[in-house]
Amino acid sequence: MEEARKGVLDVVIVGGGPAGLTAGIYLARARMDALLLEKQSPGGAPALTERIENYPGFPEGISGYELVDRMRRQAEGFGLRIASFNPLLGLKEEGEVKVLITEEGELRAYAVILATGMRPAKLGVPGEDEFYGRGVSYCATCDGAFFKDGVVAVVGGGNSAVEEALFLTRFARKVIVVHRRDRLRAGKILQERALSHPKMEFKWKKVVKEIKGDQRVAGLLLADVESGEQEELPVDGVFLYVGNLPNTEELRDAVELDEKGFILTDAELRTSMKGVFAAGDVRAGAVWQVAAAVGDGVRAALNAQFHVENLKGTAYV
Ligand code: NAP
Repeated sequence: MEEARKGVLDVVIVGGGPAGLTAGIYLARARMDALLLEKQSPGGAPALTERIENYPGFPEGISGYELVDRMRRQAEGFGLRIASFNPLLGLKEEGEVKVLITEEGELRAYAVILATGMRPAKLGVPGEDEFYGRGVSYCATCDGAFFKDGVVAVVGGGNSAVEEALFLTRFARKVIVVHRRDRLRAGKILQERALSHPKMEFKWKKVVKEIKGDQRVAGLLLADVESGEQEELPVDGVFLYVGNLPNTEELRDAVELDEKGFILTDAELRTSMKGVFAAGDVRAGAVWQVAAAVGDGVRAALNAQFHVENLKGTAYV
């Protein structure tokens, strides 16, 4: 048995956002042999959020990068190993052992926590791919400063769109939110700020038909959702916040997903593969909040720990 256990980790956590890092803090403190696999850009989506105001304990708000950096330092402080050799190519079972297939070889563990998060969805209009990096962006924190004194459009009406539109007012002279409805989906406090902001304008009930330009983005072709009437809106850049897609492509054959590709779990965050748990935004039914992802990370870690200790016969029951 001991021989068979060689080279088998207790738990592999896939994804280094708040859910994965929180799971890492708990597993490291439980002295589990845990490894967190991280992608190139550490910290997940919140790391790209300029300011997080609704994470409890930070009444003045905190930069997304700093919040996840603190989580990471906390996890590493307790001894969590973090390695950057995502992307994951697949996951399979060999008896009680889970095998993670990565570009750099295979990893074996008794339990896996999938905390791979989600990524911005594309709008799917002509010009979007062509002008990506030349006026089309999905990240205001990364690219906003390139539009100093310019005019930018933000597409979408959710929390991301409105939060990032407000951030862009620091650089741009005008920020135009293009939304397909006549009111915003974003939370009320963000709406209040946006609707009263002197630099912000709104194009209601409009959809983007095309992103136009020559070398760079020069404008948007908009259509009214009711009349179909079209108009051109000259802009220097466009930021797209039209929803998100789960990062589960490589997990499709391993665990059950919902129709949108999010991982199905039970209340204990168990997936359809025994010993594999899902936590954070990638889980079907997640509320897509940092505080909730942290809660998921705790539950997944405790259940993964219990699963491994049961297998090894060391559980405190
Ligand atoms: P979201 O809430 O799904 O909003 C996406 C927006 O894009 C919606 O307004 C939607 O319109 C619009 N949209 C979708 N497809 C479109 C299309 N084809 N053409 C035009 N518009 C389209 O996504 P999100 O803003 O990225 O937020 C994701 C989750 O993270 C949410 O649960 C959100 O609350 C959370 N989040 C929270 C915070 C915070 O707490 N401060 C910050 C960021 C994100 P409809 O409204 O018509 O559907």
